[in-house]
Amino acid sequence: MSLTNRILLAMVLGISLGSILEILLGNLDTETQLYGFVYNGLVMGVFDVLGRIFIASLKLLVVPLVLVSLICGMAALGASSRMGPIAGKTLGLYLITTCIAVTLGLAVAIIVGPGNGVNAIASVDFVPKEAPPIKETLINIFPTNPVAAMAEGNMLQVIVFALLVGFAMTRAGEAGERLIAWFQDLEVVVMKMVGVLIELAPYGVFALLTKLFATMGFETIFDLAKYFFTLLAVLLFHGLVIYGLVLRTLTPLSPAVLRAKMRRVWAFAFSTSSSGATLPITLRTVEKRLGVNKSVAGFAVPLGATINMDGTAIMQGVATVFIAQVYGIDLSSSQLLMVVLTATLASIGTAAVPSAGLIMLSLVLTQAGLPVEGVALILGVDRLLDMVRTAVNVTGDATVSTVVAYHEGQLDEVVYNDPNADLELDSEESTEAVV
Ligand code: ASP
Repeated sequence: MSLTNRILLAMVLGISLGSILEILLGNLDTETQLYGFVYNGLVMGVFDVLGRIFIASLKLLVVPLVLVSLICGMAALGASSRMGPIAGKTLGLYLITTCIAVTLGLAVAIIVGPGNGVNAIASVDFVPKEAPPIKETLINIFPTNPVAAMAEGNMLQVIVFALLVGFAMTRAGEAGERLIAWFQDLEVVVMKMVGVLIELAPYGVFALLTKLFATMGFETIFDLAKYFFTLLAVLLFHGLVIYGLVLRTLTPLSPAVLRAKMRRVWAFAFSTSSSGATLPITLRTVEKRLGVNKSVAGFAVPLGATINMDGTAIMQGVATVFIAQVYGIDLSSSQLLMVVLTATLASIGTAAVPSAGLIMLSLVLTQAGLPVEGVALILGVDRLLDMVRTAVNVTGDATVSTVVAYHEGQLDEVVYNDPNADLELDSEESTEAVV
């Protein structure tokens, strides 16, 4: 069985076992020994420990990988002046797709009306966290201390630093060349580490999902079924159809190929709920399976993981309309426009970690003049939706990177169309994207 299929099988098994354990725990007396064994020993013991170790190892690779890929990418671009157009196209596409995402979320939610008839009494106490001000967010992109940026995992700062180092290296003559060669070696080693993690993924994904589904609590999904399924439908539509259209209209590439190659990344995004933790796999897949040269992938993918969150934007659109409907508030067209603007900005500012989108939702609600306590209404069903929107978020990063690479002549179409590229991880040397 191929590795991707093994990961997908692990997902199914994890979800099934987790759900069975959830039902079992729900029916057991908490005082019994069996409950203690299943809950403390298995769910919060073995599975939680394994899952957390898996996520920690993924996160471990993020900073080194972004740093070396971006530096090598800049070196690959050499002294050419393509960085400006690549950055412009990438940012432009990220913004446009996010605007489409919020608008789609708003439109569908207005038509379907998931909040009509729902009781406004929130069942959970919720204290909204303060969202960071936009001015600070902008200033914070620029690092004062690269070591601190790396230690804190501040991705935008690491990107800025890596771009500077890469640029300087291409201008530093022999010294630069020596250093470039060193970084290229380092990249091979870090990519190998990502490969090892992908090999271990079936176990990690299984442990994560078993623990998650055993502790999820599904009752709230039935209470909020209309919200849940409306949002799910928009997420799937955007992830599968809109990105397909973007790829089809802007390039002659087949969206089916991209979707097939993204399955591995989806499994990681779904089980970790974090675009940040998934970044090593997204980057490796975009480079080695989709054939995007590292000059584009090294820049566009980490940037996208940090600022491009279409799934999150969709959630914010649907949730805003839902909350307005529950509170019986009619949204005016200027409020709707405000939601499109703030949700786009909020999704940019959302951290690539689980449930971060919920925090930024408070910002959107405040700007639209809606009660912030409304966030409490959707808390109960957010976990599962977070998993799906994270998968949408990473698909956006891969799609935009592919489109930009195609237009910049940085896409190896042979690799893109080769179904076996980087399928078996030991073949990596032969599938090195050469443009
Ligand atoms: N979990 C999402 C991500 O990492 C962010 C969110 O909460 O929407 O992409």
